[in-house]
Amino acid sequence: MNIVLFGPPGAGKGTQAKKLSEHYNIPHISTGDILRANVRDGTELGLEAKGYMDKGKLVPDEVLIGIIKNRLAEPDCVSGYLLDGYPRTIPQADALTGILEDIGKPLDVVLNIDFTNDELLSRLSGRRMCTCGVSYHIDFNPPKQNGICDVCGGKLYQRDDDKEEAIMQRLEVYSEQTQPLIDYYANTGIMVNIDGSGDIDDIFADICKALE
Ligand code: ADP
Ligand code: ADP
Ligand code: ZN
Repeated sequence: MNIVLFGPPGAGKGTQAKKLSEHYNIPHISTGDILRANVRDGTELGLEAKGYMDKGKLVPDEVLIGIIKNRLAEPDCVSGYLLDGYPRTIPQADALTGILEDIGKPLDVVLNIDFTNDELLSRLSGRRMCTCGVSYHIDFNPPKQNGICDVCGGKLYQRDDDKEEAIMQRLEVYSEQTQPLIDYYANTGIMVNIDGSGDIDDIFADICKALE
């Protein structure tokens, strides 16, 4: 199964991606996670990306296109892939089409998690992350033990870009640069809209039904 997950910041892409990746046994490729790992490791890429990320702006297209091209070439993608957070601009989507043609793994479906309301802000400001990529919410999806990841026992942290100013910027960037991709993919006939409100497990069940 070759999937792109689409939706605004806070829609629940990462949360659903973790479940889908296990269910379908395909790698979860989150460009946000890849960039944050590079920032943590202090790589050249991380140093370049951090300034954009902390401000809530997009990292330049050519950087992301390089990342995704390399990642999709890795052997675990033979069984499929689940892209989360890429593409975010029209040039990124065009590049993806070319890359997927070259490797012969065209997209099966674009899942658009439809969720645009005030709750996005509280979802993002209450989000707590683990470096293993799992995200929690202090009210809506708390870990079993306060501040500790259920999966790996790691210490949870708040992302620098989950503070109000950067959140507002990210929502603006989404509507200006990323939302136009909905029309882009709607025309290809492989887009499925999923209502992103309600219980996490109910949304997952809707996604699975849509994929079957
Ligand atoms: P995205 O990857 O789209 O930015 P996340 O999956 O990280 O979004 O979810 C954002 C925040 O909202 C996290 O704190 C997550 O625990 C919480 N969350 C995800 N799905 C739901 C839901 N259906 N209802 C309430 N909170 C949710
Ligand atoms: P969200 O939870 O808001 O959907 P992500 O974790 O996907 O956020 O991304 C965090 C930040 O990483 C973005 O605000 C941006 O700076 C950078 N980033 C991630 N993916 C991309 C991309 N495809 N293009 C440009 N920048 C990206
Ligand atoms: Zn963890």
